Amino acid sequence: MGSLLTEVGGFRKRRARLRIALVYPNTYKVGMASLGFHTVYSLLNSYEDVACERLFLGMKTTIESGSPLSAFDVVGFSLQYELDFINMVSILDACGVERLRRDRAKPMVIAGGPCCVNPLPLTRIVDLFVVGDIEPVADRLVDGLLSGARPAEIASPNGLFCSELMNPTKAAKAMDMDSIPAPTNQPHPTTSGFRPALGSTFMVEISRGCNVRCRFCMYSHCSHPKRERSLLRIREIVEEGLTVTGLAKVSLIGALVTDHSQIKEILAYLVEKGVSVSLPSIRTDEVDDEMLELIGQLGIRTITVAPEGSPHIRSILKKDLGEEGLRYVTDSAFEHGVRKLRLYFITGVPGETSEDLEYIADLCLELSKRYGGRGAVTASVNPLVPKPHAPTQFLPMADPRTIEGNYRFLRKALGPRVDLKLQSIKESIIQTYLALGREKTGGVLLQASGAGLGLAAWRRIAESEGDPLSRVFRGATATPWDLIDSGLPQTYLQRQHREMIAARNATAAPSGNH
Ligand code: SF4
Repeated sequence: MGSLLTEVGGFRKRRARLRIALVYPNTYKVGMASLGFHTVYSLLNSYEDVACERLFLGMKTTIESGSPLSAFDVVGFSLQYELDFINMVSILDACGVERLRRDRAKPMVIAGGPCCVNPLPLTRIVDLFVVGDIEPVADRLVDGLLSGARPAEIASPNGLFCSELMNPTKAAKAMDMDSIPAPTNQPHPTTSGFRPALGSTFMVEISRGCNVRCRFCMYSHCSHPKRERSLLRIREIVEEGLTVTGLAKVSLIGALVTDHSQIKEILAYLVEKGVSVSLPSIRTDEVDDEMLELIGQLGIRTITVAPEGSPHIRSILKKDLGEEGLRYVTDSAFEHGVRKLRLYFITGVPGETSEDLEYIADLCLELSKRYGGRGAVTASVNPLVPKPHAPTQFLPMADPRTIEGNYRFLRKALGPRVDLKLQSIKESIIQTYLALGREKTGGVLLQASGAGLGLAAWRRIAESEGDPLSRVFRGATATPWDLIDSGLPQTYLQRQHREMIAARNATAAPSGNH
């Protein structure tokens, strides 16, 4: 696959004392749409003595020099989704790198990314984890690697967790977004068929963290508090990035970009610049007429909104979203040229009733009718995946039969009028199992990876390893991942959990109020 690919941009450093292969355990198209991956690639290459090259799922050698992973001093994995743990094992196998850290002399395996806030299922494989932001720990990490230090010597209570030591670690946070480097030399493909998931676009991170802290959102609880890049710095990055890459499209990246205190100024600048723009999910309560006008001027054709569910479900998940604001914003967006609306929902929340499901169906049908019928509205429905360090970590996942029933209801109710995307139940169960995993889970992962994603195989192996898959349906009673400190006190998570249970027990909102 790698030999067919041609790119512009990136780094090709011939001589360096330290060679790092940065691996995205998914396809090139998916990985190249990850700004986090570009950030780490660029940051590591900014060190004179380091050459960092990329490898994706399905490739046997790196893009930059065509080297096998065994030729590198370090292999670094970017872990954005728990299911990519399976691909991580497959890549090590396919590239001839010993899976188990106890049997491996070289290369050192390091992992970073959002999933590292629970490193437990990977401690048999990974030597060292970057927990939280990489920027505050990059100097220590690179200096340690250059000096030939062992993982245990590089470990730090601030952001560097070592599997051998199991050292309690606080997630590192880069507090000043203006002082950290941004990747302006983002490589992109020139070969058709390799276009990243977001298209060929220059990505700029405008904020980290999100103060809304919906109760299911691991990211917001681990990247607290919210931090912003200033308009001035964003402009500098965009100017340099567009010049260096030659791209003509900008993607604003952040957990909640409409929450940025200077979002209107940022959008106005991009209008003035005449580039096309893509926005991630918007929070309708924050969007006013002026912002809608700017969205229209930018030629944005698709907007994404995540109502998650009925007002009852939103009160359980602490997703504040006004009913009137939702319709006002989507109506106005379509008046300003938007042609497609993507909606995200969660099902299987404990306390969910038939009225909550009817709400999803009614809302989708109403909006589809409002905005021109088939093709105008896409509804993505995902089972609730309880995650570590979020208040939902204590919740059981819904029984697969319940979710199947919910899917059947929605398929029938929506028919062909709404484009319905239903997340695989099987994958969601394995994702929850890995997200709330412990050390024993690593043994299951190592055996089951070769067996693919067959649920029966996972169930059998999990049972034999003494960490049954069924634990995801019972809810967590212990939270062993607390050796990672996300930055929020346990008392906060426990209070949120109590409030979530109280909201679950409250009367479900009557249907038909929309
Ligand atoms: S608004 Fe989005 S990013 Fe913020 S807490 Fe909720 S789900 Fe997470």
